[in-house]
Amino acid sequence: MPAIPVPACERDGCDEPVAVLKHRLCAAHYAGLRRAGKLTTASYGREIAPRACLKCGRIFEPVRANHRHCGPMCQNAAGQERRYLRRQQRDAEQSSTPVAPDLHNSNRSSHAR
Ligand SMILES: [Zn+2]
Ligand SMILES: [Zn+2]
Repeated sequence: MPAIPVPACERDGCDEPVAVLKHRLCAAHYAGLRRAGKLTTASYGREIAPRACLKCGRIFEPVRANHRHCGPMCQNAAGQERRYLRRQQRDAEQSSTPVAPDLHNSNRSSHAR
């Protein structure tokens, strides 16, 4: 039996096997495109590049450039987290404790493990 190798999804950083050969996308990316209504416009290459959800780390297809989470659940969770952190920060300021040293460096190249 000739083993035909399944090509990988066309998207950068996606190693999923292609599920929809016509679009050369894996199932997840194809579903993402369909839900975003991008397939009907057939404007290929105008989609925003997939990125990893800040909350759960899943690769997803952002609908808008400022999307950072794979879905409303992660977005809500992140929002609640941010609110909680802000409240904590305010409490810390009120109790006049020195600022947490981590907050400023959180954007540096992470070696956190
Ligand atoms: Zn994919
Ligand atoms: Zn997520």
